[in-house]
Amino acid sequence: MTTLPALIWQGGTEAAVVEVPRPEAREGWSRVRVGYAGLCGSDLHILAGEHIRAKPGTVIGHEFVGTLTEPAAGLPAGTPVFVNPMVHCGVCDACSRGLVNICQSLTSVGIDYPGAACPEVVVPDYGLYPLPPAMRLVDAALVEPLAVGVRAVRRGEVRLGDRVHVIGAGPIGCIVGLLAGMAGAVEVTVSEPSAFRREQAAALGLTIVEGGATPAADVVFDATGHPAAAPEITSWARPGGRIVLVGAYPPAPQPTALLSIMFAELTLVGTRIYTRQDILAAIELIASGRVDVSRFVTEVVALRDAAKAVERLRAGTAMKLLLDPENA
Ligand SMILES: [Zn+2]
Ligand SMILES: [Zn+2]
Repeated sequence: MTTLPALIWQGGTEAAVVEVPRPEAREGWSRVRVGYAGLCGSDLHILAGEHIRAKPGTVIGHEFVGTLTEPAAGLPAGTPVFVNPMVHCGVCDACSRGLVNICQSLTSVGIDYPGAACPEVVVPDYGLYPLPPAMRLVDAALVEPLAVGVRAVRRGEVRLGDRVHVIGAGPIGCIVGLLAGMAGAVEVTVSEPSAFRREQAAALGLTIVEGGATPAADVVFDATGHPAAAPEITSWARPGGRIVLVGAYPPAPQPTALLSIMFAELTLVGTRIYTRQDILAAIELIASGRVDVSRFVTEVVALRDAAKAVERLRAGTAMKLLLDPENA
C-alpha cells in the first residue's frame, strides 16, 4: 500500500506527522498535488479535540492550493488551482435554493475527508478554481482566509465613511480590517488581548484600542467566536449599527445584550465561509496586487516540522503558518 506523510490529529490534544494511506479516488473528485496548506484557528480546535465532527486520525488542512495531477473539470493536468474545501449535500433546503455555503449538512476536506497537510489531497471537482498563471502559489495559499474576509465585509455592508471595529486581531480579524478599509471605512480599530497580535495588527496599519474604550462603530466584526467576546459585541456599536459574527462560537447559547440590540436598533448578522463570488473576488484581489497577502504569512514550514509549528500557533507566537508538503 502506498503511504504518504501527513499531519493528523491523534486524539486528545496530540498532533503528529505520520505515514497515512494515499487518499482514495472518488467519483466526481480529483487528485491535487498540494503546493501549500495553511493552518488556522479551526485546525487548532480540531487538534485540541474540540471539533464535533473530527475523528482521531483526521488528516487536517482545508486552506490550500496545488496543481492537478490529472485532467479534471475541463482543466489539463498541471493546472495550478485553488480548492474550495467545502462539501455540500445538494438536497437540503439551503442547497435547493443555491445557498451552498450554508448547507445544513456542510462538511469539509480536512475535517470529514482527508485534508491537505499531506503531499496529495482528493477534492470535489466543483470546488476547483484555476489560478491566473502569473500568480505565485504561495500567495494563492491565502485565497481561503481572504475569501472569508471578503464575505464578512460584504455581509457587513461597509460603506464609504464608515467607522469599523474588529474584535480579535488573528489573521481573519486583520484581513477583515484591511478589507473594510478598502471598502470605504475611514477608520478601522481593533481590540485584541495578545500583545503579539496587537503588534502584527498595528504593523498592518490598524488602530489598536483597549477594551472599554468604545469607538462607536457603524460596523462591528467579531472575529473571535470566543465566549468572552459575546457580552461585549454590542458595546462597540453605534446606535443603528451593524454587528457581524465572523468567528465560530461553541454550540451553546452565549449571553449578549439583547436589550441593546432592541433599544439601539442594531442589526446582528452571520457570515459563513464564502460563496463562489467571494472566492473569485479574493483571487482577483491577490492577482491584481491590491492585497499583499505576504504580509500575513509569518512562516513557511516543511511538513515534517508541522507538529512544532502547531505548538507556535498554540502559543500565539505565529500569525499565518503555511505548510510545504513537498518538503516532507
Ligand atoms: Zn481555516
Ligand atoms: Zn445541503
